[in-house]
Amino acid sequence: MEGQADNRTIEVALHDARARVLADLAARAVAQAEVVSLLEEAVSKRRWWVQQWPDGAAYVAGLLAQDVQDALMETQGRWPLCTVCDEPHALAVEPELGPDPHWVCEALGEAIAPVGALGG
Ligand SMILES: [Zn+2]
Repeated sequence: MEGQADNRTIEVALHDARARVLADLAARAVAQAEVVSLLEEAVSKRRWWVQQWPDGAAYVAGLLAQDVQDALMETQGRWPLCTVCDEPHALAVEPELGPDPHWVCEALGEAIAPVGALGG
């Protein structure tokens, strides 16, 4: 069934996106219980989104990273901080809506790491 295949694709994409963002949260030392529940909430919202638009499955990792970044801004401040620049600022996800998302330092215009690989 095509629908089942779509569901599996969606769940694989969500699982991958969740693992990547969780790895980045752990790499930048904010993977406390509160943050993990924030991540779970973001995952369930993105599950709804990608069910409406299955073609967007490849974009979920980048979107989820931005969702968590936005949620953290409200509770814990900027995340993840750029470790290259002296002036503290948060890294940005590029592309905002596309596959193969990276954390980018906008000051330098350089990609720092793929989403999911902030820890090196
Ligand atoms: Zn920077």
